Amino acid sequence: MALIVQKYGGTSVGDIERIMAVAERVKRWRDRGDAVVVVVSAMSGETDRLIGLARQIQARPVPRELDVLMSTGEQVTIALLSMALSAKGCPAHSYTGAQVHILTDSAHNKARIRDIDAARVRADLEAGRVVVVAGFQGIDEHGDITTLGRGGSDTSAVAIAAALQADECQIYTDVDGVYTTDPRVEPRARKLARVTFEEMLEMASLGSKVLQIRAVEFAGKYRVPLRVLSSFKEGEGTLITFEEDAVEDAKIAGIAFSRDEAKLTVLGVPDQPGVAHQILGPIADANIEVDMIIQNVAAQEAMTDFTFTVHRNDYARALEVLEGTAQQLNARQVLGDPQIVKISLVGVGMRSHAGIASRMFAALAEVGINIRMISTSEIKISVVVDEKYLELGVRALHEAFGLDRLEVA
Ligand code: ADP
Ligand code: ASP
Ligand code: MG
Repeated sequence: MALIVQKYGGTSVGDIERIMAVAERVKRWRDRGDAVVVVVSAMSGETDRLIGLARQIQARPVPRELDVLMSTGEQVTIALLSMALSAKGCPAHSYTGAQVHILTDSAHNKARIRDIDAARVRADLEAGRVVVVAGFQGIDEHGDITTLGRGGSDTSAVAIAAALQADECQIYTDVDGVYTTDPRVEPRARKLARVTFEEMLEMASLGSKVLQIRAVEFAGKYRVPLRVLSSFKEGEGTLITFEEDAVEDAKIAGIAFSRDEAKLTVLGVPDQPGVAHQILGPIADANIEVDMIIQNVAAQEAMTDFTFTVHRNDYARALEVLEGTAQQLNARQVLGDPQIVKISLVGVGMRSHAGIASRMFAALAEVGINIRMISTSEIKISVVVDEKYLELGVRALHEAFGLDRLEVA
C-alpha cells in the first residue's frame, strides 16, 4: 500500500462534473489499496473573483481580511469533493488548513509554512477514509487565517506530502506535464518525461507557473518525489528527479518567461563608492524586491547610469522612490519602462557546454529582437526584451535549440 498526496488545480475542479471526475480518479487509487490525501484549489476563477470583490471596496485590501476572504474559495471545493466521494461510496473527510494545523508565519497573502501536525490526517487514513485538505491556506500562531501566495496549493500539497513522508506527490493540472516551454505560447512545445529538480526550481523562479516556486523548494528540501500530470487524460506526466544523470543529454531543458517585469533607470549619477547602495537602499526599505541590476561603465565625467528591474506590481512605487533618490543625487534623469518581459533558457547541460549564450543572442538577433538586459548563472541565461517580442522570442529560441525535436525518454 502506498501513501499518495494528489493536488487538483482550479480548472480540474472547475465545475461539478469535473469534481465528480476527480472523485472517480481518487476512488480508483483508493480501491487499489492506496491511502490518498487530496489537496484542492478553489474552482477556477474563484480566487480572482473574490479579490475583485475586495478591490471594489479598497484598492489595496487589508491583507488579513483578504486572507479570510480568499480562503473561502478552497473551503467550497473541499466540501464538494468530499460529498462527491461519499456519493461514490468512498468515505472522506474534508479539512481546512487550520483544522489540520498547517502552521504558517504571519505574512498575510504570502505566508510560509512552518509546521504541519499530521496526526489527524493519519488517524483518518488509518480509518480508511480519504482526506481532503484545502490548499493555499494555513493558520498563524495567533489563530489567524493566512494564505500562501497565488498558486500556493502546490506548496500545500508538497508540504503535506513531506509531513506524511508520502510515496509520491502528484500535481494534477490542465496540462499533462512540464513542457519545454508554456504550450500556450509555443504549441510545438514538448512534454518532458523527466526534469531535474534544479531545472524545475529555475523554471519556476523564472516565471513558469506550472508549479509554485515554494512547492519546488519544499520538494527539494524534504526530497519529496514530485510528478506533474493531467487530470483530464491518463499518462505518466513529468517526474521531477533528483538524479541528473537520468535526464536526456539535452543542453537546454526549457524556456521560461515572465511578463511581471518592469525596468527603471537613473541617468547621470556619480561613479563613486556607495551610490548603488544609495539607489537601492530606499527601494529595499520600501519592501520592493530587485531582480536584475546593471551599472554602466563610467564615461568621461565619472558619471554613470544605473538600471534595475522589479516586479511590475511594484513599478509605480519604485518609480516614486527612485525619483526621490535621483533628486538627492542630482541625477540627470529617471526613466521607467513597465512594458518589458524576461525570457530565460534553463538547463543543467549548460554547465558543460560553451557557446549557449552566443547562440541565444544570434537567434534573437535573427528575428530582430533587441536585448535590453542580460543576466546569467550556472544553469540559466535570462534576457530582458520589449513585451511585444515575448511570443516571437520564445518561439525563436525554441526553434534555435531544437526543443521541439527533443527526444524524450
Ligand atoms: P492549476 O490551476 O492546475 O494549478 P496552473 O494554471 O497554475 O494550473 O498551471 C498550469 C499552466 O501552467 C498550464 O496551463 C500552462 O499554461 C502553464 N505553464 C507555464 N509554463 C509551463 C511549462 N513549462 N510546462 C507546462 N505548463 C506550463
Ligand atoms: N486558489 C489559489 C490561486 O488561485 C491557489 C491555487 O490555485 O493554487 O492562486
Ligand atoms: Mg497553479
